[in-house]
Amino acid sequence: MSLQHIGVVGAGQMGSGIAQVFAQAGFQVTLVDTQERFLARGIDSIQKSLARFVQKGMLSEEEKEATLARIKTTIELTPLSQVDLVVEAIVEQMDAKAKLFSQLDQICPASTILASNTSSLPITEIAAVTNRPAKVIGMHFMNPVPVMKLVEIIRGLATSDEVYETIHQLTEKLGKHPVEVQDFPGFVSNRILMPMVNEAIYSVYEGVATPEAVDAVMKLGMNHPMGPLQLADMIGLDTCLYIMETLQDGFGDSKYRPCPLLRKYVKAGWLGRKSGRGFYQYS
Ligand code: NAD
Repeated sequence: MSLQHIGVVGAGQMGSGIAQVFAQAGFQVTLVDTQERFLARGIDSIQKSLARFVQKGMLSEEEKEATLARIKTTIELTPLSQVDLVVEAIVEQMDAKAKLFSQLDQICPASTILASNTSSLPITEIAAVTNRPAKVIGMHFMNPVPVMKLVEIIRGLATSDEVYETIHQLTEKLGKHPVEVQDFPGFVSNRILMPMVNEAIYSVYEGVATPEAVDAVMKLGMNHPMGPLQLADMIGLDTCLYIMETLQDGFGDSKYRPCPLLRKYVKAGWLGRKSGRGFYQYS
């Protein structure tokens, strides 16, 4: 299966990074969001990321311009009728993803593979709203996408071996490291990471320590490159909450209950870096 033209839906922190790595690897990319200002923000973050690569001598100015020229933006889904693969990176909520996949199933040719960058939601359930469950797969990039090597490749119950192989090889073409995982809540990455983040939030909630102290313990004591609360702010506290809810619903185990402080912050609109405030404040 030859893939040349890639659609990316959602131009937030993940979607813009995903569009960037495909364009850097020479693919034509159509990047979709619901409003022009979200697309402009996504392109701005791609420009900044590419400029950092140029500054570090890892990319030439010409390669940067060529990469940007390969990305087209639109607020319509219909241009995706031309693509070989769609990678969805919208909000981490099943209703929104199910609605989008059902629309994509109508718009895209039967040969198009539909991938989700979901952090935790069941690929099998997303696939079930389409008429092509064999062509639906999870392609879970890590944040920040242009830097992080891992991509979890999630097989839904009906995902075909051919589609799995195609996506595995494609991931290697992007210079990333694919790891195969089965379709269970949170896959491997967030099943392990997010309870730790949630526990760090409980430590603040119960007054065990300040965010700075929790992060210092994990950085200096466990050699983590970032503290769990810095990381939660980077991921987005809304995304962290949705992942904990998916783990709790999916396993039916109270050990995955989201910390009330996490809920409170999300209700307040304190979503971390993307909103300017989370456990820390950002200018
Ligand atoms: P984000 O909030 O930064 O961006 C989401 C974007 O999707 C926004 O620009 C929004 O306008 C757009 N959007 C929402 N509904 C849409 C629709 N119907 N059509 C088109 N665009 C739509 O979120 P994010 O952090 O980029 O996360 C996106 C996905 O990636 C989620 O499923 C998340 O779980 C997953 N993910 C996130 C991280 C992370 O660290 N943030 C890591 C891996 C995977």
